[in-house]
Amino acid sequence: MDGFPEPGTVRRVAPGILWVRMPLPFALNHINIWLLEAEDGWTIVDTGIGSNRTKDCWERIFRESLAGKPVVRIVATHFHPDHVGLAGWLVDRWQAEFCASLTEWLFGRMLSLESPEAMVRTSLAFYRRAGLDEAALAVMAERGNSYAKGVTPLPARLRRLKAGDRLPIGGTDWHVITGGGHTPEHVCLHCPDRGIFIAGDQVLPRISPNISVWASEPDADPLDDFLRTLDRLRSLPDDLLVLPSHDTPFTGLHARLDALAAHHRERLEEVVNACAEPSTVAQVTRVMFNRPLDPHQLVFAVGEALAHLNHLAARGRLIRRTDRDGLLRFSRP
Ligand SMILES: [Zn+2]
Repeated sequence: MDGFPEPGTVRRVAPGILWVRMPLPFALNHINIWLLEAEDGWTIVDTGIGSNRTKDCWERIFRESLAGKPVVRIVATHFHPDHVGLAGWLVDRWQAEFCASLTEWLFGRMLSLESPEAMVRTSLAFYRRAGLDEAALAVMAERGNSYAKGVTPLPARLRRLKAGDRLPIGGTDWHVITGGGHTPEHVCLHCPDRGIFIAGDQVLPRISPNISVWASEPDADPLDDFLRTLDRLRSLPDDLLVLPSHDTPFTGLHARLDALAAHHRERLEEVVNACAEPSTVAQVTRVMFNRPLDPHQLVFAVGEALAHLNHLAARGRLIRRTDRDGLLRFSRP
């Protein structure tokens, strides 16, 4: 598909499905949002980050692109601020219902309500143990509750989506598929009748979704969840039109699933090689991401490195231990 819609405008990707591209203040500078039309109104899948700039884009879309129909439903694929940041605002603005999986809703609510002091304390301990230097830790300490800064208060009421549910929109059923790895219970929507798959961040066409270990669950193995999800998604037809949250719509789902799995297999070998000497997470991060990283990117890079390290440790290919200096180190058996 050539090009993309400008902020505040829409493009039709299929009958009754509009594509909106909202700006993001990060290196990854946009998120795709999908508007599904039905007789009684629109379902919005994901919202953009909680900012005045995004609200302005929405107001323009509401004025120009909704064909006089209301927004009746907001679906969040997962709890990340670029996806759920304006859910609360949109629900209030339209008296719409809010749909998400229970885990994603709870996680977003939990993080948004956590005190900045508590969040900084947990994350400083985590990143110190990972081996980040004092300068990087000082930047982390300044972040406060960076999650809460990216969202308007999340909706207090949920319509829960579960794997296997069917969500009828505009005369067709959308099947709820949940995945793991990027977040714990990420919702994807598959419409078999129309051959369309709303993938969220679970499957992206050019970049690989971030698979990170976070301070709240330092021993987690999200890469295992992610690889298992890729396997399960192979049961979907290969000729679906995939609507991803970043980049552009694409076809060729199976080749993309294979490429993502291969990418992580390569990364795992690279990480084993990086641990010839006992290595901290920070040291492995520098091998995996050999370029300057801004603080936002550093958080994701450290999380991604630890996801690969924990995955290898869970399989006995690396040994994971906390040394006397309080640093977590990984080495070959
Ligand atoms: Zn995400």
